[in-house]
Parts: sequence; structure tokens; C-alpha cells
Amino acid sequence: MSNVINLSCTCGTVKGKLKVVDGSFLHIHCLCCDCQSFASYLGNEENILDEHGGTELFQTYPAHMEITEGKENIGCVQLREKGTYRWHTTCCNMPLANTLTSPKVPFVGVSPKLMQFDNEQDKLRVIGPVKMKAFGKYAKGKMPQDAHPKIPLSVMPKLLGFMLRGLFGKKNTPSPFFRNREPVVKANVL
Ligand SMILES: [Zn+2]
Ligand SMILES: [Zn+2]
Repeated sequence: MSNVINLSCTCGTVKGKLKVVDGSFLHIHCLCCDCQSFASYLGNEENILDEHGGTELFQTYPAHMEITEGKENIGCVQLREKGTYRWHTTCCNMPLANTLTSPKVPFVGVSPKLMQFDNEQDKLRVIGPVKMKAFGKYAKGKMPQDAHPKIPLSVMPKLLGFMLRGLFGKKNTPSPFFRNREPVVKANVL
């Protein structure tokens, strides 16, 4: 089964589409310090982080994501040299997605805040519940009970399968963030 979800930033300038295909995504919640630093770099923590400093991520293939409007409002930051590319909007400072720096890797971690759902039930029906709460040791205050301190080993086979299917299916491309194997905008390295 597959669904196409509309994407929109908070101010509505950047728009896109995301294909949600059964078995080709992982819906997670990340409490890591890098996701928190990213939100504070954007100066928009109150709209991005929950009370524990966590954010949701919808990990899927770049070929399933498309930016259709407002491409000139895409920015990119790296928290450190060779770090993950963290894509965001420059109009309203919202996270778009994370990718690795190599366009060959069939991976994109999309921010569910971009996804336009009618309500919480609709969201649950389309992308399901959070399957893993990772990096709980970085949580603000007490670690949430359902979080794992780092990444549970049990998720590794799933991640590996996801990567292999993506590689064989060449799902790294087309990507909204790379053109001719180059990033669409130059990353700002912190
Ligand atoms: Zn994180
Ligand atoms: Zn915007």
C-alpha cells in the first residue's frame, strides 16, 4: 500500500510530496544532542522540540520525497566537518530532512512536522506509531521510560534490510537535495 502525503513548511513557502510505502520507512523519535543543536541553530526550539528535547523522524528513501515549491528557500547545515547534512527551510527555519553527505546512500530522515495530516488519527493510520525512541541518554530532564539510551540492537537488521533494498532499487535518486551528485545548496559548516 502506498499513500502520497503533502508536505509544507510552517509558513507555506516550501511545499512537496512524500510517498509513504509500506515496508520502506522507519518512524522514529530521536533525542540526540545533534537534533537538539540543530533546533537551537535554527533558533526555533519551541516549534521543533518536545519537552524532552526530542523530534520525530520519518526515515525513508530520497526517491520518495519531492520538493515542488520554494526550492530557493532550502538551506543546509553541518554541525561539524563531514557531519550529516541537515536540510532546513530559510523562510521559517523548520527542519526539512537529514541525509548523509554521499548522494549514493538511499536514506533521508524527513521531519514529520512537514507532513500535512487531517488529525492525529490520520497520521497514525498513514505512518503508524513511533517504532523506536533513540538516544534517550541525551533527553532533557529525566529519560522518557519508553526510550532507549542509544539505539536498540534489535533495530539493526531492519535498518540493514532497509539500506539493502534501497541500494538494489537505486532509491537514492532522484533526491530533492542532490543534483548531478552535488548538494543543491552549499552546507554551512559550524
Ligand atoms: Zn537525533
Ligand atoms: Zn517556510
